[in-house]
Amino acid sequence: MTPALKIQGLRKTYQNGFVALDGIDLEVAQGDFFALLGPNGAGKSTTIGIISSLVTKSGGKVIVHGVDIDIDYPGAKKFLGIVPQEFNFNVFEKVEDILTNQAGYYGIPYGVAKERTEHYLNRLGLADKRHESARNLSGGMKRRLMIARALIHAPKLLILDEPTAGVDIEMRRAMYEFLKEINAAGTTIILTTHYLEDAEALCRNIAIINHGKIVTNRSIRELLRDLNKEVFLLDCADTLPAEIAVNGFELKRLDDHCLEVVINKGQDLTAVFRTLGDKQISVVSMRNEANRLEQMFVNLLEQSA
Ligand code: ADP
Repeated sequence: MTPALKIQGLRKTYQNGFVALDGIDLEVAQGDFFALLGPNGAGKSTTIGIISSLVTKSGGKVIVHGVDIDIDYPGAKKFLGIVPQEFNFNVFEKVEDILTNQAGYYGIPYGVAKERTEHYLNRLGLADKRHESARNLSGGMKRRLMIARALIHAPKLLILDEPTAGVDIEMRRAMYEFLKEINAAGTTIILTTHYLEDAEALCRNIAIINHGKIVTNRSIRELLRDLNKEVFLLDCADTLPAEIAVNGFELKRLDDHCLEVVINKGQDLTAVFRTLGDKQISVVSMRNEANRLEQMFVNLLEQSA
């Protein structure tokens, strides 16, 4: 099946020479719920800006449902609903009109536009605000209005840039439920976030971006499994045997005297020491190898605190 989104070798160098995207590749399957996770400044908004044609890329390709944005942007745009971080509707326009007018831009017949507007106003808790100017809405309501507007032309791919930034916990839960619902109904969703919690609660697959590069790209389940592992290096006074195994442990002989032990957090190392002791091998020191991913998450948490 054609991927919902395919990004190849995407690069962005801003005018001041800053390299915000250093050649990223991504592929998101139709129907997926995908997280692009990374700390502030990683390049998430730049990526979305390029997909939505607000930022000019310096190189690479973006293909939406098989349509190259360089060749046929209007064609690609039909598949796309984008919710940027900044509110960009006309704040003097009425809530209801923002939705029906948006439908008009996409050539949606008035009757259908009305029906969809009604549906999203109700579903997103905006029905009693329909006649208000958008400027009178709370921040959370504005965010929901942005989502409703992005969905009005029934896009196959919905991309949200930091949808939960500054959103309180209760609202965040309601937003999770809504997004899960439309994903289950067939819309592919990509969101950017700097909360692992968002990705964990919602997404099936994840790419982590840092300094304009994709650091890892796989399923959330695999990522969480790896985050739960700890790596120790044991330096031994005596020469290690060529083959060494202990039930329930991942061991790797790095050289004659150094043994790498990978454990699940909380698992104790007694059995490893016992086996080494039985073989007359004494351990002179033990180091805890910093988990690269974990270090990144510590940085992320510090930023989002
Ligand atoms: P994120 O969304 O992951 O927080 P951004 O894509 O917004 O990251 O930014 C990536 C980097 O590019 C940041 O270091 C940011 O300061 C820089 N940047 C963004 N816009 C511009 C610009 N117009 N000119 C120069 N640098 C920019």
